[in-house]
Amino acid sequence: MEFNYDVIVVGGGHAGCEAATAAANLGSKTLLISMDMAKFAQMSCNPAVGGIAKGQIVREIDALGGWMGIVTDRTSIQFRMLNKSKGPAMWSPRAQSDRMKFSDEWRKILENTDNLNLWQDLVTSLLIENSTVKGVQTRLGVKFYSKTVVLTNGTFLNGVIHIGDTQVGGGRMAEPASKGITEQLVSLGFVAGRMKTGTPPRLDGRSIDFSLMQEQLGDEIPSSFSYLKQDNSLKQRSCYITYTNQDVHKSLRKGFEFSPLFNGTIQGVGPRYCPSIEDKIVTFADKEKHQLFLEPEGEFTHEYYLNGFSSSLPLEVQLDALRKIPGLEKVNIDRPA
Ligand SMILES: Cc1cc2nc3c(=O)[nH]c(=O)nc-3n(C[C@H](O)[C@H](O)[C@H](O)COP(=O)(O)OP(=O)(O)OC[C@H]3O[C@@H](n4cnc5c(N)ncnc54)[C@H](O)[C@@H]3O)c2cc1C
Repeated sequence: MEFNYDVIVVGGGHAGCEAATAAANLGSKTLLISMDMAKFAQMSCNPAVGGIAKGQIVREIDALGGWMGIVTDRTSIQFRMLNKSKGPAMWSPRAQSDRMKFSDEWRKILENTDNLNLWQDLVTSLLIENSTVKGVQTRLGVKFYSKTVVLTNGTFLNGVIHIGDTQVGGGRMAEPASKGITEQLVSLGFVAGRMKTGTPPRLDGRSIDFSLMQEQLGDEIPSSFSYLKQDNSLKQRSCYITYTNQDVHKSLRKGFEFSPLFNGTIQGVGPRYCPSIEDKIVTFADKEKHQLFLEPEGEFTHEYYLNGFSSSLPLEVQLDALRKIPGLEKVNIDRPA
């Protein structure tokens, strides 16, 4: 194992995988360090890629020689071109991918990229000499040297997860937070802030009555993200649409006093287009119902992602509200919001 590189990328998420392959493909001797090699390019939230604005970015990554579009095309289980009723400039590609296969596909790409080494570990600090970054140090006590360090830590730097009044440190559900880098950057004069995002519960499809929901099929002739044609023989799957109602909203309101969003525990700013269900029923109090999408997490799994129902409310409040939604009367949760 050599310990000197041209480029070290810290964090094997979507950004880090692209950065590492781009650097290696340009001829730089590159090392990608990531906490868990079984989770390269893990989809943190939806098992989906693209959508309005984001779909265009994925196509730009493709045009620049990146992999995200190719991986999506190889692993998609539903493709839809959004905004088809408008002019072509407004069309937005969106695909559901098999979450597990997406990550596996990325791993194959990383392992078959020349000039690229992989290392599973947690980077705890940057090595700095004379105000210049010289490399990184890891939790296992290993020092790696390089001319350039790219930090792509995603949501992991000092991450905190909230479920009602329960708080646990974590970069993502069941994954530890990364500590040390933020503190070091702050000591060097960088300003650190905190943002928030939410995620909905994942549901067991065997406990869902899809006959009470509207089926949403993919496009009959699916398009693609990449300009390079990819093979994909995965079974294509439908999404389903259902709605909240006043009973659901009433159940959710009962939990507001325990909501970290409303009691001041969460102070970060969230993404404008990803409001939680509790945010939606407060901001749009006049709305009788909100649309929800059930999205399959993979080609064969029973697990469904309930798009539109992100929440930080306590588990019992989530379950009570969910069971008032048409089709979810007997639902079981695989993972809480
Ligand atoms: C709950 C939740 C919901 C979200 N919802 C959405 C959504 O709906 N749509 C959307 O577009 N985005 C969403 N996001 C944001 C999502 O994180 C990003 O879109 C995407 O994952 C960013 O990719 P990334 O490569 O920057 O970081 P990440 O995907 O977060 O990857 C970071 C990687 O770095 C590794 N890592 C971090 N620190 C270290 C370290 N010190 N040492 C070694 N490895 C390290 C981690 O293990 C991980 O592999 C959500 C995030 C979360 C947590």
